[in-house]
Amino acid sequence: MNKIEHIGIAVKNLENSNELFSKLFGESHYKIEAVESEGVNTSFFKVGENKIELLEATNEDSPIAKFINKKGEGIHHIAFDVSDIEAEIKRLKNEGFKVLNETPKQGADNKLVAFLHPKSSNGVLIELCQEIKD
Ligand code: ZN
Repeated sequence: MNKIEHIGIAVKNLENSNELFSKLFGESHYKIEAVESEGVNTSFFKVGENKIELLEATNEDSPIAKFINKKGEGIHHIAFDVSDIEAEIKRLKNEGFKVLNETPKQGADNKLVAFLHPKSSNGVLIELCQEIKD
């Protein structure tokens, strides 16, 4: 793994939270993106070299809606940048981690993504992401 790519935060209302986090960082988000397959609207902030992703559910079946119902708003996942997502999935499976999607899928921010089940990583949902180069 190369570095932390971003930290994902589950929020109830993206518009309100965009305002709140803009105040916190002293800068607005640089993009908003819907990921229909996940039932989420996302926004991204740059904080120096780091990124924060806010996620709002677009429907009740969205993993973000389920997360908020169970735990409330807060840190949802940590995403790590990887150079070869397929190789990382294989490696982590061999190490005993539970990979939620063994075939990487298209995520927000031009990335291929895969998730590890929080149960296999001390309660932390891990996202692997590899930049799609075009
Ligand atoms: Zn993410």
